[in-house]
Amino acid sequence: MALQGSGFWEQCLQIISARINAQSYRTWFEQTWELKYDDDAVVIAVKNQFVADWLSSNYTQLIVDIAYQVAGKEIGIKLAIPRNGGYEEILLDVHSSNDSAPSKEVGTLNPRYTFENFVVGDFNSLAHYSAMAVADNPGGTKYNPLYIHGGVGLGKTHLLHAIGHQIKQTKPDLKVIAVTSERFIDLYITSIINKTTSRFNEVYRSADVLLVDDIQFFSGKEGIQNAFFHIFNALHHRGQQIVLTSDMPPAKIAGLEERLRSRFEWGLMVDMQQPNYEGRMAILRQKAESDGIEIPDEVLSLIAQSVTSNIRELEGTLIRLLATASIYGREIDEKLALDVIGQYGRPILSLSEKITLEDILKIVSQHIGVSPELLRGKRRTKQVALARQIAMYLARKYTGSSLQHIGNFFGRRDHSTVVHACKIIPQKDGEVQRIVSQIESELDRRTGK
Ligand code: ADP
Ligand code: MG
Repeated sequence: MALQGSGFWEQCLQIISARINAQSYRTWFEQTWELKYDDDAVVIAVKNQFVADWLSSNYTQLIVDIAYQVAGKEIGIKLAIPRNGGYEEILLDVHSSNDSAPSKEVGTLNPRYTFENFVVGDFNSLAHYSAMAVADNPGGTKYNPLYIHGGVGLGKTHLLHAIGHQIKQTKPDLKVIAVTSERFIDLYITSIINKTTSRFNEVYRSADVLLVDDIQFFSGKEGIQNAFFHIFNALHHRGQQIVLTSDMPPAKIAGLEERLRSRFEWGLMVDMQQPNYEGRMAILRQKAESDGIEIPDEVLSLIAQSVTSNIRELEGTLIRLLATASIYGREIDEKLALDVIGQYGRPILSLSEKITLEDILKIVSQHIGVSPELLRGKRRTKQVALARQIAMYLARKYTGSSLQHIGNFFGRRDHSTVVHACKIIPQKDGEVQRIVSQIESELDRRTGK
């Protein structure tokens, strides 16, 4: 297949081909190509209506998930079907592909989201511990409801589904219902239109374990909250397990009725935090291992240093790294990692941060493409030496570290070397000047200037 467009869809295809069997891939994906891609939407051409229908009814979730991972955010996905010399576009949407019978909800757990695949560290150990306890003894602990909250991409959905898997496996007689709040809302509205609300209520009340993801979306929706209130009471009263996730604690959800808020706080509330560097390394190692791919530790470390926002971003970066390596036949090394990290935006900067020598090391390494090891090493090739001088100059300007300390940090050099760097870098022009001011404006942003 010819490489077209931005390469975005090609990256998705690489991953899809690894996920589904070869026959299905050939049949449904091989003759798809990217028609258009911009920052928030991709249009994928398919051969005919039939392929479009098949893809949308069988592969929507997969395509949406993978596009999300590759793009690092939610984007619109359209299929384009050739028609009268042009294309007719249809939107691929997780909600539109399913019919709306509530019973369909039973058993839509992501197969990858298991306890086995879940890395535990300080940042999530409490949430993990309580999820395990609930999965071992649903309805039988004080953790009812279990309320898991935390920022995006930190593993809430993963943990919620892991509970579902575990219970299904060890207690197959129990009826586990997993639903996102958005889906719950859609189905509730549909049931009102179809006059089937009693059936709707019945389904959810029949659960032994009810897992509801992202309940913050109930905010401000009184009818839904009322419906959920009664389902919650019925289940809780019978000692059935309820697990809820949200991006914030109940008290912080605006437009949540008092009676629901207090019920959400009845059991146990646990939060999930951002992983620290060690946690990020552990996650990257686990992902690489489970994909059966060997990636040098320096490469993983580079990603763990640059991508600090959340675990989804971390995964996305790793996937882009692998996709780029396989599409362009490149070796998985630090250079590739820097390219991939650089290409998809700089690490998120928090405001008013204090700049450290490590920060300078990282930022110079990313902008110039010389590895941190080289910057701190002895080598004196022209490019490395220049990059090191830039780093020293910026370190002096931004960190308040002593000349001695800076010299020592960058390859055990004398303080006079730092003085020299500080003198000559401001005198450079052209490309050097451009890079330096680019880094400076980023550092200024970081320190809140
Ligand atoms: P949230 O629901 O909090 O936004 P998700 O559960 O969707 O986050 O997690 C985002 C991605 O990160 C998923 O692909 C998930 O498998 C992965 N992930 C999150 N936490 C972990 C973890 N502790 N170990 C391994 N993978 C994780
Ligand atoms: Mg989630």
